Amino acid sequence: MPRLTLDGIAKSFGGVSALDGITLDIAPGTVHAVLGENGAGKSTLMNILSGLYRPDAGQVALDGRPVPPGDPKRALDLGFGMIHQHLTLVDRFTGAENVALATGGRLDRGLVRARAEAEALAAELGFTVDLDAKVEDMPPGMRQRVEILKVLVRGARIVVLDEPTSVLTPAEASGLMAALRRLAAAGRTVLLVTHKLAEVFAAADEVTVLRRGRLVATLPIGKVDADGLAALMVGADEADMITAVPAATAVIDSHATPVLEVAGLDIDDDAGRSAVRGVSFRIAPGEVLGIAGVDGNGQAELAEALAGLRRPVAGDVLVDGVTVAPGRARERLTRHRVAYVPRDRHHTGLVLDMDGARNLILRDVDRPPVRRRFGLIDRALAARRLTQAITEFDVRGAAHGPARALSGGNQQKLVLARELGHAPRLLIAEQPTKGLDVAATAFVQRKVLELTRSGAAVLYISTELDELRTVADRIAVMSGGRITGIVSRAEADPQTLGRLMGGGTARPASDTRTGDAA
Ligand code: ADP
Ligand code: MG
Repeated sequence: MPRLTLDGIAKSFGGVSALDGITLDIAPGTVHAVLGENGAGKSTLMNILSGLYRPDAGQVALDGRPVPPGDPKRALDLGFGMIHQHLTLVDRFTGAENVALATGGRLDRGLVRARAEAEALAAELGFTVDLDAKVEDMPPGMRQRVEILKVLVRGARIVVLDEPTSVLTPAEASGLMAALRRLAAAGRTVLLVTHKLAEVFAAADEVTVLRRGRLVATLPIGKVDADGLAALMVGADEADMITAVPAATAVIDSHATPVLEVAGLDIDDDAGRSAVRGVSFRIAPGEVLGIAGVDGNGQAELAEALAGLRRPVAGDVLVDGVTVAPGRARERLTRHRVAYVPRDRHHTGLVLDMDGARNLILRDVDRPPVRRRFGLIDRALAARRLTQAITEFDVRGAAHGPARALSGGNQQKLVLARELGHAPRLLIAEQPTKGLDVAATAFVQRKVLELTRSGAAVLYISTELDELRTVADRIAVMSGGRITGIVSRAEADPQTLGRLMGGGTARPASDTRTGDAA
C-alpha cells in the first residue's frame, strides 16, 4: 500500500488555478521528487500536505486513511514534517533547545533527551551540527540541518522539503541529498520539492513533474534523462523557444584597458558592518565576469556600490580607465555608461504602477532627448522605446498597462530593454534570471551575451553555478565579503567553486590571477 496518496487535489487563489486534479501515490521508503518551474504549484501542494492550506477538492490519505484537510497540528501528529524555505527556528535558542521545544518537552527535562536523539540522528545522517550553538550564530546550512533533526525527533515519517538547497553551498547540497537517501533507506518517505534537475537525479527514486498546476508525469528515475525532464517541465510548446544559450566565446584581449577595474574595495552594509573587504578585480572588454557565492556574502553591497547606490568605505573603481566618483548613480549612467539590473525588479527595477513606456524613460527622464524644452516629456520617444522593447526584447502581455500586470519574465525583459537601451559599456546584472522560467532565462542570458559583442563588459552575479558556467568567461567566488578565488570557466567545476564558496582557497586568494584579466 502506498504510504501517501493524493487524490484529485485542486486549489485556486482568487479564481486562478494553482493546482488542478493532482493524483499521486508515494511508496514508503522512497524519495519522491516534485519538479516544476517557478509557479508550477509545488509550494501550494506542500502547504496542502502540511495542513496550512485546505484544498478546494480532493483528498490526502496516509496509509489508506484520510488526513483531515486544513489542520496543521493534526498533520504534524500524523507524522508530516515540513522543511519550509523559510525556517521556523527560534534564533536565540540553541539547536538542542529548538529540538526540545518542538517535541513539546519542557526545556529543562526534555532537553537532555532531545539533544541525545538529535545527536544520534545527526550521526546517522552524516550531519555536521553544533547543537549547543545558538541558531542565530549558525550558518544557513546548519540551521537547516537543525530544522530537519527537529522534525525527525518529533517523529516525522514523511519529510517534505521545499527547495532546500537554495541556501546551501554545493558541498552542503550534495551532503543533504545523501542524507535524504539515508532517510528513505531507513523507511521514511521523503518529498523533495525542487526546480533543479540535478537534485532529482542525485536523490530521487521517482519524480513527478508539475507544470502550471497540472501533473504532467510521474516516472521512475531510471526511465528519464535530464533533457526529457526539462522538456516535461517547460512543455513541448515552449521547449522550442529555448534556443540553447551560446557559451560565451568572446576573444578577450587581456592587455586592453579593462572596462572595469576595482581595487581594494571595502563596503559596509546598512548596519555599518563590513560587507565587502579588499575586493579587487578587472573585467576586460567583451568579458563576462561571474560572481558566485551563497547569497548574502557581500554580492549585493558590491553591486550597489558599483551602480553608485552605496558609497564604499575605501577603494577605487575605474571604468575605461577613468576613476568613478563614489556614489552618484546618475553620473555613472550618463558619463561612464554603467547599466544596472538590480536583484529586486519589484522594488528597484521598475515602478510597478507605471506603464511600460514610462518605465523605459525612468533613467533619463530628466534630460534630452526625453526631456524637451519647457520640461515637456517626449511621449512619442517613450512610445517608440516601448515598441522597440516589445519587438527586440519580446516583452509580452499588458505592455500598455501598469508594469505590475506583466509576468516576472516580462518585467525583467522590460528592465533589460531599458538598461541595454543606453548602449552601456558595463552592465552590472544582479541575479537577472532569478524566478524566471526556462525560456525567459535563456532569453535574458542571450541578450546579456549579445551585449559583450559591442565590447561591453558584464559583471554577472548569480547563486546558480550552472548559470555562471554558461554565461561567464571567468568566475569570482565571494565568501564572507572577500573574493576567495577567480577561476576560468574551464576550471570552474563544482568542487573547486564549492571549496571557494566555503571560504577555502583552491589557490591563494592573492594569486596573481585575481587581478589578471584572462
Ligand atoms: P511553486 O512553488 O511551484 O513556485 P506556488 O505553489 O508557489 O509555485 O504557486 C503556484 C501558483 O499559485 C502561482 O501562480 C502563485 O502565484 C499562486 N499562489 C500561490 N500561493 C498563493 C497565495 N497564497 N495567494 C495567491 N496566489 C498564490
Ligand atoms: Mg515554491
